[in-house]
Amino acid sequence: MDISRLYGELEAIFNKMVEFRRDLHQYPELSFKEKRTPMRIADYLRDLGLEVRTGVGGRGVVGLLQGGKEGKTVGLRADFDALPIQDEKEISYKSLVPGVMHACGHDGHTATLLGVATVLANHREELEGNVVFIHQFAEEIVPGGAKAMIEDGCLDGVDMIFGNHLQSMLPSGEVYYREGPIQAALDKFDIKVIGKGGHGGVPHETIDPIVTASQLVVNLQQIVSRRVNPVKAAVLSIGSFNSGDSFNIIPNTVEISGTVRSFDLEVRSMIEEKMEQIALATCQANDATCEFNYERGYDPVWNHPKETQYIRKVAEEVVGEERVKETPPVMPGEDFAYYLQNVPGTFFHTGSMPSDSDRVYPHHHARFDFDEKAMLVAAKVFVSAIVRLHKSNLVGNSHNYRGV
Ligand code: MN
Repeated sequence: MDISRLYGELEAIFNKMVEFRRDLHQYPELSFKEKRTPMRIADYLRDLGLEVRTGVGGRGVVGLLQGGKEGKTVGLRADFDALPIQDEKEISYKSLVPGVMHACGHDGHTATLLGVATVLANHREELEGNVVFIHQFAEEIVPGGAKAMIEDGCLDGVDMIFGNHLQSMLPSGEVYYREGPIQAALDKFDIKVIGKGGHGGVPHETIDPIVTASQLVVNLQQIVSRRVNPVKAAVLSIGSFNSGDSFNIIPNTVEISGTVRSFDLEVRSMIEEKMEQIALATCQANDATCEFNYERGYDPVWNHPKETQYIRKVAEEVVGEERVKETPPVMPGEDFAYYLQNVPGTFFHTGSMPSDSDRVYPHHHARFDFDEKAMLVAAKVFVSAIVRLHKSNLVGNSHNYRGV
């Protein structure tokens, strides 16, 4: 297959990708509540003539494109959930759902994959091997959709997998790769500090949970700064601290929640252990008690070396060597981790910073948006990775696809 012709075909349907993306953008759906989105994806894939399975692992959609020739089976994954954020952009395709917004670019991931499916479906007779389009629900909230979709067989028979995330803070047109850890393990915790409420003017007759919890917040910050080996990265952030409703009443309890991010499983365990120890001890020192709850979220995303170098090479041919860069590991978590624990593959990042600097905002921001041209870059990388695969030395797993 002539790769430049395929690129031309992608460019020709770019408007269609934009249209699909903007439609999802206007009708975003929260994790584990997606209905319209998977339905629209399934309809689209069926119209292309793919074999489609819906409800995979809950709300996922898997489309199988069988090539006319022998070859590997490659999985391509895009997530499709949105976030509980009120869209504050002033733009024609702004979210029409109050309090819900595609603020992480998952609408773009989805449209990218559908563009890839459109072009490859037109060439199925020449296609060597199969492509499995994995449209995943619920990436934003643990336990996520990936594990459930894998348990429901979406990877059965898949030899290798590739995934992409747009990055609004990185220049559009650039592609970022990394062997090994690229995204952090993502854990969450809740701590309830239980004191004894009373009159604000009579503190000695109370056990003040606000003072205790405040000490606890400060003490917890010493884990990363004093316990974690400085060459190993970790983050511990408190995201909520709630208590009290009156200026003169010492409340009974304080509820704290936050997140821990790490790349190393030993560091992760140590942090969890120290946190519990510090929470219990800080409360005990103040005659308070505490409930400590630590929930492990996604594992770190570890890219396989060969597949990563393959995507790097493919991307260099798409955008030029100078625009393909190694990324340092980043802290946001991703349940793409689980696909990579089952089959070889790699997760890459595609720069998607809007050209107008007034529109540049980070992911999960109420004014987040991305340069839609980045979808074309990612689509070309995917198409090229599929078409050139038979010339590569990638082996992957080897069994017949049974996922649909
Ligand atoms: Mn995301």
